[in-house]
Amino acid sequence: MINPLRGMKDTVGEFSKKYIFFIENCSRIAKNYGFSFIETPILEETALFKRSVGESSDIVGKEMYRFIDKGKNDVCMRPEGTAGAVRAFITQKYDRAGGVKRFFYHGSMFRYERPQKGRLRQFHQFGVETFGVEDVKEDAMIILMLKEIFDFFGIACKLQLNSLGCVTCMPTYKDNLIKFLDTIEGLCEDCIKRKATNPIRVLDCKNKNCNKLLENAPMLLENLCPTCKDDFSELKSILDEFGVVYSIDKKLVRGLDYYNKTAFEFISDNIGAKNAIAGGGRYDKLVEFLGGRSTAGVGFAIGIERIIDLIVMPKNKKNGYYIGAMSDNALKLVIKLVIKLRKSNVVHTQYISKSIKAHMKASDKAEAKYFICIGENELKSKTYVIKNLDTKEESVEHYHIL
Ligand SMILES: [Zn+2]
Ligand SMILES: [Zn+2]
Repeated sequence: MINPLRGMKDTVGEFSKKYIFFIENCSRIAKNYGFSFIETPILEETALFKRSVGESSDIVGKEMYRFIDKGKNDVCMRPEGTAGAVRAFITQKYDRAGGVKRFFYHGSMFRYERPQKGRLRQFHQFGVETFGVEDVKEDAMIILMLKEIFDFFGIACKLQLNSLGCVTCMPTYKDNLIKFLDTIEGLCEDCIKRKATNPIRVLDCKNKNCNKLLENAPMLLENLCPTCKDDFSELKSILDEFGVVYSIDKKLVRGLDYYNKTAFEFISDNIGAKNAIAGGGRYDKLVEFLGGRSTAGVGFAIGIERIIDLIVMPKNKKNGYYIGAMSDNALKLVIKLVIKLRKSNVVHTQYISKSIKAHMKASDKAEAKYFICIGENELKSKTYVIKNLDTKEESVEHYHIL
């Protein structure tokens, strides 16, 4: 017997029902916001993720599914969705055309981590990316979209916000942070490495001792340039206006190197320790950094495995038809009727004749709303009965040739 690999699962049963319900409704909401579907390859050159996600990140440092293919290319299975979307944006020369592009995507991502609840090695994300809008109103808009998504699925969560500054204010802050870090001793091994490669990420450390050592560290939010300050105020006032509750998390820097200005996470108390269910922010330098013409970007991604248990499904309603044949002669007519009704309805059937009792049982199982059974009598009378299984009402339908 061959089992799936550790940390990888089949999409079946209850998960599958919720998954498709989630994807369909997220896609609908994203389209309402003017986003169109994009799909990028699962395999990309390793260099793409090294440059965009950053070599100092855990993802690139420890977790990538990386191998040399038969053509001797150094390739990786995508660990997240933004890098591929940006690469596609440049590949399609949208950066040269100018203007605004809004994409949504969903699919499998791969990270070689220790599997635990809500955390698989092959997992799924739904995300959006906007290119070409520098205005912070876009940041507000995608946060509103995320809120709408979580509200729709009945998921209670909290928004945490921060600003990561820009090319004007970030470098000075970084220098000050390094100066501060030089004065303290006892940081964890990871933080000592981060201090050299990406000191901002020291703030993000989950180590309790590091948190304590950083209590008096300078915070970027208190050292923003006037533009970043204004943008952050505008973002907050839009969220206030639309009743989105948030808290400021000055240490929210996200694990990825390319974010600037707005950074945010939605967290849920209902999913255990690592409680972020979605995250996003602005990445105005990434397109240029990957070789495109300078274009602003902002987006988010939702970890579907993290929220799947929190989704409140609508109560199952009876839906569609069940049509059964009670004789071999009737089967031909049943199949014709099935094909006709399937043009605009869900229709269940079986391709063998059975008793009405057996069909009724199958119809219950299929949760059909309407029940039709055709046998010799119906063939003779050229009529059949449609029974509404909700109201128990019956109506007689005449047919000539279907
Ligand atoms: Zn700034
Ligand atoms: Zn640390």
